[in-house]
Parts: sequence; C-alpha cells; structure tokens
Amino acid sequence: MPKKTSKRPFTVIANWKMNKTISQAQQYAEKLPEFCEGIENSIWLAVPFTAIHPVRSSLPDRFRVGAQNMNDASSGAFTGEVAGEMITDAGGDFVLLGHSERRSYFHESDEFINRKVLRALESSLSVVLCIGETFEQREAGETKEVLSRQLSLGLASVRKEDLTRCLIAYEPVWAIGTGKTATPEMVLDTHGMVRSSLSSLYDEESAQSMPVLYGGSVSASSSEALSKIEGVDGFLVGTASLDPETFAKIAQFASK
Ligand code: PEP
Repeated sequence: MPKKTSKRPFTVIANWKMNKTISQAQQYAEKLPEFCEGIENSIWLAVPFTAIHPVRSSLPDRFRVGAQNMNDASSGAFTGEVAGEMITDAGGDFVLLGHSERRSYFHESDEFINRKVLRALESSLSVVLCIGETFEQREAGETKEVLSRQLSLGLASVRKEDLTRCLIAYEPVWAIGTGKTATPEMVLDTHGMVRSSLSSLYDEESAQSMPVLYGGSVSASSSEALSKIEGVDGFLVGTASLDPETFAKIAQFASK
C-alpha cells in the first residue's frame, strides 16, 4: 500500500439512521465528548430530525450535527417532508444526501438527489453526497461508470466555489450493514476513480481538496487499516456509530 500523503482533514461521521429517541440521543451526546478527548479529527453526527436540536444543545461546538435527508423544496404542501432551512433552524449544519437506503427503499433518482444538493447548499448546509455501486454492478465491471454517473448527475450545476461545503462518501452498497468491508485494494482503487471523476468534472485542484470518505461496515477493528489508505479522508459509520465508545474508538484510530 503506498504511504499516505494527503493533507485533507480527516472527518468521521456517525449515521444513526432511524435510531434513538430524544432521551437516548441526549445520553449519547453527554457521553461522547469524554470518549473523544484527545482526538483531533472532525466528528459529525447525522441524527434523526427529532434529535437535531437536543443533540446540538448537548454537544460542544467542535462536534457538528446534521440530518440524514431533506426535501428539494424550500417549503410548501409536501406532507411529511423537511426542508433544508428547517434543519439549519434546528441547529444542523450538514445533510447526508443520496444514501443507498434512500436510493433503494425510497427510489430516489440522481436527478432528485441533485435538486436536494443544490437546495441544501442554498440553505447554507454542507452536503455529504453518498455514492456507491451494488454487488451486481461491481461483478459486471461497471463500478467506475456507476460512480462517475452518480457524481456527475449528483453534482450537476454545483459551482466550484461551493465544493468547499461538499464531501463525498463512497459506500459500496454490498458493504452497508452487511459486516463485509471492501478490501484495501478495492478502496484504494475506487477512491482513485472518485478523485479522477471529480478532476474531470471540475479540475485537479478542486478534486484534491475534496474529502472522500469511506463507508460500509467500518468497525473499531477495521478503521485503523482503512484510515491509512491513500485517498481515504474519513468514514461514514452506521451500525458501529450507535454506541458512543465504539464510535469514538473508530474516530480515534483514524487520527493516528
Ligand atoms: C451507512 O449507513 O452509511 C453505513 C455505512 O452503515 P454500516 O456502517 O452499518 O455499514
């Protein structure tokens, strides 16, 4: 494995998915800072909408709090939906968009995700755009094509100056919630593909400054090795982020 040379900040993001009541979220937020003492990485929490305000109010400023989804409109007759401004108003400052669970269970298209990306940036949020291939696409040799399509459609019309508020999370769909992690070679290879697609869409300088995180069954035992791979600028962690001590261990390994 080549030695890591990048100077991009390392960001570790918890994705709680549809877990934790307000009191459970507050208990987590009260414990997390102690477990994270001495860790220099950026630590972000993507929590359910109902937990944004309580978690933001319970955590020191060094932790960022955000949402896992939003609507592409700014307000209106969209029963059950939440707008970007509402996330900001609740104290959130970022949003995950295009997560594979949203793409598959809620049939979100790249075009819809792109409208949300543009609306999120307009709402002063940072965006974590999630991309990744299915097992069948990987087996069919389509990984590069899938990733570059998700990037070019997802980032369509995003201005170069707004890229400082965008992060990419590469998450192979077959590795999410399955206990299967991509091999270091796959991660190195796909993160390289992502970086080269970004460079074609924008330019090399922009591509080199954009954080590209890895996600997919990251655990306290796999994070150290994954963090050393060139091009991996952090993690998006689902299951293993639900316990604050385990999540802090993942974030800690990453900082070494
Ligand atoms: C995720 O939800 O983004 C994720 C990577 O989940 P898990 O860590 O459970 O695979």
